Parts: sequence; C-alpha cells; structure tokens
Amino acid sequence: MTDRLLFEISRPGRVGVSLTEPDNTVPLPELLPGVALREELRLPEVAQLDVVRHFVRLSQKNFSIDTNFYPLGSCTMKYNPKIHEDVVRLDGFAHLHPAQDEDDVQGALRLMAELEGYLAEIAGMKAVSLQPAAGAHGELTGVLIMRAFHRERGDAARRRILVPDSAHGTNPATAAICGYEVTPVRSDERGGVDLGDLASKLGSDVAGLMVTIPSTLGLFDEGIATVADMVHRSGGLVYCDGANLNAVVGRARFGDLGGDIMHFNLHKTFTTPHGGGGPGAGPVAVRADLERYLPVPRIVPHLDREGAYTCETARPLSVGRVRSFFGNFGMLVRAYTYIRMLGSSGLADVSGCAVLNANYLRVRLSDVYDVPYDRICMHEFVMSARRQKAANGVRALDIAKRLIDFGYHPPTIYFPLVVEEALMIEPTETENRETLDAFVETMRRIATEAGETPEVLQEAPHGTPVRRLDEVTAARRPNVRYQAAATT
Ligand SMILES: *Cc1c(COP(=O)(O)O)cnc(C)c1O
Repeated sequence: MTDRLLFEISRPGRVGVSLTEPDNTVPLPELLPGVALREELRLPEVAQLDVVRHFVRLSQKNFSIDTNFYPLGSCTMKYNPKIHEDVVRLDGFAHLHPAQDEDDVQGALRLMAELEGYLAEIAGMKAVSLQPAAGAHGELTGVLIMRAFHRERGDAARRRILVPDSAHGTNPATAAICGYEVTPVRSDERGGVDLGDLASKLGSDVAGLMVTIPSTLGLFDEGIATVADMVHRSGGLVYCDGANLNAVVGRARFGDLGGDIMHFNLHKTFTTPHGGGGPGAGPVAVRADLERYLPVPRIVPHLDREGAYTCETARPLSVGRVRSFFGNFGMLVRAYTYIRMLGSSGLADVSGCAVLNANYLRVRLSDVYDVPYDRICMHEFVMSARRQKAANGVRALDIAKRLIDFGYHPPTIYFPLVVEEALMIEPTETENRETLDAFVETMRRIATEAGETPEVLQEAPHGTPVRRLDEVTAARRPNVRYQAAATT
C-alpha cells in the first residue's frame, strides 16, 4: 500500500469511543456554545486503533537526535539528557502560572537568578537577561541595547553595523530590523576577519560589529582581540553571536576576548530540545555599564527579605520587555539542570570533546572531499563538494540527500555562503567513536559513488516516503489542514 493510502483511513461511521446514553439523573451540559460548532467540518471517522497506528507511524517518520546521528552544522544537535525532563516535570515547576504572586514563585525566581549568574560567569560579562526566546531574538535584544547605549550618549550618527561575510543570516537581518545599514566585512584566507577590510570600513558612523565566535566556518579567529580593539577604538561595540559556544564553553569567555554583548542559544549549547522551530531560549549577557539597558523585569534580591527575590520593572533606560513574562521557562529549567549536572569542569569537557570529534571527522574525510580552510577546526568544519561537482556534476545537495538513505540527517549545506558547495558538519561531543567511524565510512562510500554512479546521488533519496520536495513551498505554504478524501 502506498503511503498516501495509509494516510486516508477515514471510513463513514467508524468511531473511536462509544459512550452509553446517559440516563436523566445526569444533567447534560452543552458541550460547546452553538456558534463554535461547525457542522460543515469534515473530520476523519476512525477507530481508536487506526488513530494509534496513524500517529505512531507518523512519529516513526520523524528524524530525531534520539534515533540517529544529526550532524547539522551550526545547530549543535547534541543529546538531550533525560534527567532534564524529570526535573522540568516536577510539580513546582510544571504547574506554575506566570501570573502567580511573587511570593509563590520564589523557587522559580531563584532558579532564574542563579542561571543568570552561571551564564554571566560563562560569558565573562556582568549581567544576563533570560527573556529572549531564541538566538535571533537575543540578537535583536542585543542590538537594541547597542542602539540604546549610543542614543543615551547622544551619538545618533552611528547608523551602520559591520557583519563578516561568513555570518549567519540572522546577523544582518537583525541589524537591518533595528534600522541599521549593514556593511559586510571580508574574511581573510584563514577564515578570520580581514583586518585591512575592517579598518577601511570602521568609522564614526559605525555602531558596532556583530561577530560569531568561533566563526560559522568553525574556525577560531586568532585576531579576535585585535578586531575587538579596533572596533572599540572607533567608538563601536562588539556583539558576539554565541550560537557556536559549544566550541569554547568552560574554556574561553567572550567578555575576556573583548565582547560587550552576547547571546546564548540554550537550545544549542545547553541541550534544551530543539528542531521544528522551538521552543528555544536566547539569553543575552552584557558588560557592566550596559546592564541598565537590559529588558525588564529584572530579577533582583529582595531588599527586606534575606534570600528572597523580586521583579523590578522601574528601569528607565531599559529597552523594555521583549517577551511575555520570562520567556520559555521550561528551557531555563533544563539549561540550569545541565549546568548543575556538569559543573565547570564538565562544561570544559563538553567543548574539548566537541572539538576533538569535529577534528576527527575533518581529518578522516579531507582526502576525499575538499576542506577549503584545512586547519585545526573548532566544534564544526566546512567541506566543499566542488571537486565532485567539477568531476561528475554531483552537488552538495545530492550528497546531503544520499545521506538520508543511510539513516543520517544531512549536514547544513550551502552555508556559509563564502564556501562553494558547502557541507557544514557538526558532530557534537555526545557521539561515540563507532558512530563517527560509521559516518566516515558512509561519506567515503558516497564519494566513491559520486565517481562511479553519480545518478544514484542525483536521484536520492531512494528510501523515503517522498523524494525531493520543493522545500521553499513546503516551508512557506505548508498544508497542515486535514482534508478527508471523498470516500465512496
Ligand atoms: C542558530 C544560529 C543563530 C540563530 O539562533 P536561533 O535560536 O535559531 O534563532 C544565529 N547565529 C548562528 C551562528 C546560529 O548558528
């Protein structure tokens, strides 16, 4: 039977649950006010077993980190420890209501205050706000803080933000949404910020630089301290995109490298489950003199009660509220648990093993695929399929699709834009040697196939319910509405 037939399982008259007619000792409430009932809705008519099989089957089609290796570069798809789920389901967390009285939620406030403290320590910065709900949202908050800083000083002429050409698309998008003009800065031949190009683009109209550490090429920019210094000397601020923190967590702190503002992606580095669009958490950290611009409310120690916390909103210079309440609280509980489980030495092991795993893959694949920046990488590296494309017309997309046939989630492709036919691979620290070796063997086999049977790659995937989708239409105009097929 084809998948499509399996999907259309409705048959007139089938029901999942049948209830006996109530006798008149039980008053029947009206189920829904009449106006909300839509008789014209054609809902599926199915038995209970049909429903169970339908949803279990769908769940098995879902690719997840709990089932397979997921080396999606820049996304840090690491294992999500299950203890987080136990902790977040504790009644005292799971049943909180955000509108509860401050006195009732002291535990939650304390958890958030402590998490802010840990993240500030990890950042090497003074203060943190947990409100932003994703990395891009953290960027927005950070750039609003940058703007507030310049405005308060009466420095309104700064209307440009510099962004390296290797940046994630959210960086220029954020700068533009905050009303800035975006000026790209070239990468040098080692993948770092080109200092000459940076110098030529700095000026009294530059509000700051948004820079990802390590860069989206998976490389640590050895010149980062000089870069920060140059930006500061021209009066700008340095915004660090912390999405790649998994490479340096517990070892290097952005504040010590010259960063003024940064965001974390708790759903990447701190293992809160992600994919499918959320929920996420993108806390922002700032240096001491920028604390006054952080979003409100701020969680502060209660003045009269030892050990208690209160929420402060009277902060005239704050950029304001960026999210209802405190963002996705469950993500904060999970990240807190992760940090407490590992401690500072455990966090340093995370980055150490993440970097080791990425370099292991890089070295074992660099004879069959081009690695344009072939030097020690951080937590990820970028390969290019340009050799396969030139020889056999096999593109990065074809390699990615072929990986699906072997049970792997494809790496990130065609990003960063500065690498032709890019394949960006991030294994994370949670994968073992056997998994990495099996992935290497598969990637080498695909390289051989590219030479011998390129059409197998160009037509992949072969084993999935649907083959190649129009991904833009699938993302922009998803058809998520159930429409019963006309049954005869
Ligand atoms: C993931 C990522 C972002 C955006 O984070 P979201 O949480 O997806 O909004 C920004 N920059 C880089 C480098 C990233 O990898």
